[in-house]
Amino acid sequence: MKKIVTVIGARPQFIKAATISRAFKKFPVKEVIVHTGQHFDKNMSDIFFSEMQIPLPDYNLDINSLSHGAMTGKMLEAIEEILFSEKPEAVMVYGDTNSTLAGALAARKLNIPVVHVEAGLRSFNNNMPEEINRIITDRISSLLLCPSDTAVKNLHNEGFENFDTIIVKNGDVMFDASLFYSPIAKTKSNIINSLNLNEFVLATVHRQENTDNIDNLKQIINALNTINKSVEVVVPLHPRTKNIIQKHDIRPDFKIIEPVGYFDMITLQQNCNLILTDSGGVQKEAFFFKKPCVTLRNETEWTELLEHGCNMLAGHDTESIINAYETMNNKNINFGANLYGNGDAADIAAEHIFNLL
Ligand code: UDP
Repeated sequence: MKKIVTVIGARPQFIKAATISRAFKKFPVKEVIVHTGQHFDKNMSDIFFSEMQIPLPDYNLDINSLSHGAMTGKMLEAIEEILFSEKPEAVMVYGDTNSTLAGALAARKLNIPVVHVEAGLRSFNNNMPEEINRIITDRISSLLLCPSDTAVKNLHNEGFENFDTIIVKNGDVMFDASLFYSPIAKTKSNIINSLNLNEFVLATVHRQENTDNIDNLKQIINALNTINKSVEVVVPLHPRTKNIIQKHDIRPDFKIIEPVGYFDMITLQQNCNLILTDSGGVQKEAFFFKKPCVTLRNETEWTELLEHGCNMLAGHDTESIINAYETMNNKNINFGANLYGNGDAADIAAEHIFNLL
């Protein structure tokens, strides 16, 4: 039986991995899961494995809360050791975190083919740690699984057809996840009742540019405080953002809750009026659930959402966030475009991966 090592470590990667791990069941493939430990809190990690029935990790590296270089370096060393003993036919990585880069680099240096799921995304902002992780991972991968036409176009613009790389547009595995888990979430999540929510707006903030820059964070919080005067704002707060808010003794007026599991999160998204976010995954989920989205950044990797009028960039400035909120709240949006595939992205991915092994 062929063997693949999957390296994951952060919340969005658990959600993506749930889909392809399930699709692998149709193939004679043994998947060995390495959890780097980048996200480790119960509600940032364990809850996803249990709710989404992801196979438990075979290895747990517990590497977290370090600077980018130290974290990536430690992961690289530990993953290399695992690859020496497991000797897989390929290594699969997801998205754009330090775990993605470390997994890809460890494999490539041992001449093990790398599969990158969610390849080809670009923000064209090299100050984002995620952008560096994406560019390097794509360049050293053997199979690039792209979620959108934009992602394929980005790779062609960078000359990828000149490299020994297979490029496939399989669609977005997060769309698969939203379709598969929505009916289950309907029966399992009670969050709307337990938080006593009626009309509300959902927001998430965790990108480094918005948390490490306290001015940006204060501007965003001011905007959410203002919006909260007309409609309730609910924020499941990322631990990184929570630490910074506490350190600076900022006390927002809106409703802050702990990070929630996937079932509660998609239920919140399905029931809110609008979403404000700096998350990549949440921008797309807003589209899947037909909710207007305001992005708290100056650029996005999901540019097709802007082109179709479903998303608007607002940056970090209080006034521009409030203006974007007003615009999107009053806009008639057509969510009908097929931008991310047909819900079979994981099956297409699994087939291409199997052919590579
Ligand atoms: N998410 C969640 N609980 C939360 C916040 C987000 O389950 O409290 C999910 C969300 O629905 C999406 C994913 O986490 O599927 C997005 O992850 P995140 O925003 O951490 O990372 P990004 O997508 O920006 O890389």
